Amino acid sequence: MQQERDALIVGAGPAGLALAIALTDAGFTATVFDAQPREALAAPPEDGRDIALTHASVATLRTLGLWQRLLPEEIGCIREARVVDGDRQDAALSFAPRGPGAERLGWIVPNHALRRVSFAAAAERPGLRLIDRAHVLRVATEPGHVQLDFETSPGLPQQLQGRLFVAADSRFSWSRKQLGIAADMHDFGRTTIVCRMQHELPHHDVAYECFGYERTLAVLPAVGHVSSVVVTADAAAAERLMQLSESEFAMLVERQFRSRLGRMQLLGERFPYPLVAAYARRFVGQRSALVGDAAVGMHPVTAHGYNLGLQSVASLVHALCAARAAGRDIGNAAVLAGYERAHRRDAAPVYHGTNAVAKLYASTGVPQRLARQLLLRGAQHLPPLKAAITARLTGRGGLQLPGAAV
Ligand SMILES: Cc1cc2nc3c(=O)[nH]c(=O)nc-3n(C[C@H](O)[C@H](O)[C@H](O)COP(=O)(O)OP(=O)(O)OC[C@H]3O[C@@H](n4cnc5c(N)ncnc54)[C@H](O)[C@@H]3O)c2cc1C
Repeated sequence: MQQERDALIVGAGPAGLALAIALTDAGFTATVFDAQPREALAAPPEDGRDIALTHASVATLRTLGLWQRLLPEEIGCIREARVVDGDRQDAALSFAPRGPGAERLGWIVPNHALRRVSFAAAAERPGLRLIDRAHVLRVATEPGHVQLDFETSPGLPQQLQGRLFVAADSRFSWSRKQLGIAADMHDFGRTTIVCRMQHELPHHDVAYECFGYERTLAVLPAVGHVSSVVVTADAAAAERLMQLSESEFAMLVERQFRSRLGRMQLLGERFPYPLVAAYARRFVGQRSALVGDAAVGMHPVTAHGYNLGLQSVASLVHALCAARAAGRDIGNAAVLAGYERAHRRDAAPVYHGTNAVAKLYASTGVPQRLARQLLLRGAQHLPPLKAAITARLTGRGGLQLPGAAV
């Protein structure tokens, strides 16, 4: 049996690695297991996802030293967001940052870049061990410790013990099931296609969400004359969109976007993502916790999945640091209950609000169309609601480590 670690984390995705880095920076030890080979984790391939980041998330990424590792050409900026209903030209709702020093609503960074910098930072932390090609066989959470059985070569089982087990292995989490934690899954029957497109006219750092009646189109500003394009349609229609030639697809996007950016052209591949949301019934178990998508896997329409994942990391690290400061065991049920409460408070309104928006915009009936128009026009003329949404994007916060300058 090898030496006991503070945390055993399954999943070296952006959430699992952020947690491992934060814990080791706070003085804990952590081992992360991932099924993928080291080379794929170190240089992840493009997956088409561009991640819109809030101010609090960027503060967390800075604290962890990840933001500083991104290349300037990987960081896009969102100065304004406009929401368009149906086939209209004008925006029904718009958001811009307010207050002194507020220059942008958020940033946009490719997912593979976030994964790359997370891995590079993790590889440099002495207290952090990463076990790749790991096939986790069993997770046993006992009152006094947790034990993980795994193999990296078939037929050669190994064991590791720790004080806390963390599941960070995606919304379809295998370890969540091992812990006996149920999740409410919602299959939207729709698919999101993501890709990058080049365009003739500048985007002026404005993000668009166009709620058309057949499909939803989001156009998010990347660097230069390039945007991240997100098309959501029912699964059968999405399959047809994937089969269109590059130029047919580009023309369709350009037409739905009413040529706001002039001629548009595909850059690289289109990536389809069938939309399934997940919400774990509990975020903690005996000596165990869930973070990232394993806790809450969001519909991407409100661009909150990873932002919420970083919030789960910040809440868990906060609870564990407070426990240590009070001389308590980090696997203690009361300590984990604190994390459960904090993350449920953060996640519940965002998750249920996002699902309500996604369902409303997937319906094409006349009452739903009217409800959409009323909702958007109402929100535009309801300054407190707009201010609350803007504050959620631009609000301060994020992870704070003991003794770290944020
Ligand atoms: C189209 C799209 C657009 C999005 N846009 C945004 C956005 O704008 N803003 C935003 O905040 N979020 C966005 N998201 C959400 C964001 O991508 C996710 O929330 C985030 O990637 C989740 O990170 P994670 O580490 O929890 O899980 P994942 O990224 O799923 O990583 C899980 C890791 O666990 C490993 N793993 C899985 N099973 C096992 C196992 N059994 N054993 C060992 N390892 C295992 C995998 O190899 C992987 O490395 C978007 C998502 C999609 C699909």
